[in-house]
Amino acid sequence: MSEGAGGADGVAGGVGLTALLVAAARAIETHRHDSLARDVFAEHFVLAAPACAGWPVRIQQVPDGDANPLWGRFARYFGLRTRVLDDFLLRSVHADARQVVLLGAGLDSRAFRLDWPADCVIFEVDRAGVLAFKHEVLDGLSAAPKAARVPVPIDLRADWAEALTIAGFDPAAPSVWLAEGLLFYLPGTTETHLIDTVDRLSTGGSALAFEVKLDKDLLEYRDSPLYTSTTQQIGIDLLDLFNRESRPDSAGNLTGRGWSTSVRTPFEFTRHHGRGPLPEENDALAGNRWVFANKPRP
Ligand code: SAM
Repeated sequence: MSEGAGGADGVAGGVGLTALLVAAARAIETHRHDSLARDVFAEHFVLAAPACAGWPVRIQQVPDGDANPLWGRFARYFGLRTRVLDDFLLRSVHADARQVVLLGAGLDSRAFRLDWPADCVIFEVDRAGVLAFKHEVLDGLSAAPKAARVPVPIDLRADWAEALTIAGFDPAAPSVWLAEGLLFYLPGTTETHLIDTVDRLSTGGSALAFEVKLDKDLLEYRDSPLYTSTTQQIGIDLLDLFNRESRPDSAGNLTGRGWSTSVRTPFEFTRHHGRGPLPEENDALAGNRWVFANKPRP
């Protein structure tokens, strides 16, 4: 692996390692007989990363299987999220948008696995080390993207709007944006700036989906099986990585700027698809919301 891949901004630790957690969950989901989303690349990321030694890529490799809070319920959450956001992106590109911007793209392989319209461009924004690792693995597999794909290696706390436009993004054309598993790692001011920037770069007909946590106090669920099992089994302390500042009301801010927004719980989609996590006691997922927003044409 390159220096960047193992370095401070790579996938070996810190927030970069969470990209591998989601990849492992997608690998497990892919191998389920009733999978909601298939990502044949996901297990290759896990197998290539020394930081994931011993992680499962199939539920059969987990001694307590679906009863395991991390590789059972939490992984199923990521599988459901992947499917719901796949559907959202495909709906958006078949409507107006031909530019797709994945903010905090991590090891998202949608450019390689979804059937995009021929004129689609997919911009993947994440830190250089994460994207370097991703490229090494995908190059090793000779994977070919199914749309034009433009990596934008930059920290989202820097001037990513300029980097994106230099990379070819056109603010005058409709776009669809995704911030999946991202915003709660960022300072509140960075989230506000990110949402403002998406609004500024979005013309009418654009769309955005993002995930937030509404919990007033993230520590309320610190003993939740999802958090404790993630720390104990793979050494990722999510509460330590989440930004603990009070969060902006990004959905409300977009509504105030004329976007139409819908704020949904993941559990609604579990019921719709017939599989996925349902509410439980002391639930780290209780405050999770998936927000879908559309900017009307003038
Ligand atoms: N969206 C991907 C997915 O769902 O598979 C990755 C989610 S992963 C939980 C979080 C991602 O956000 C990581 O890839 C991490 O590098 C990225 N990220 C976190 N903070 C960032 C920042 N300040 N700038 C750029 N990327 C960041």
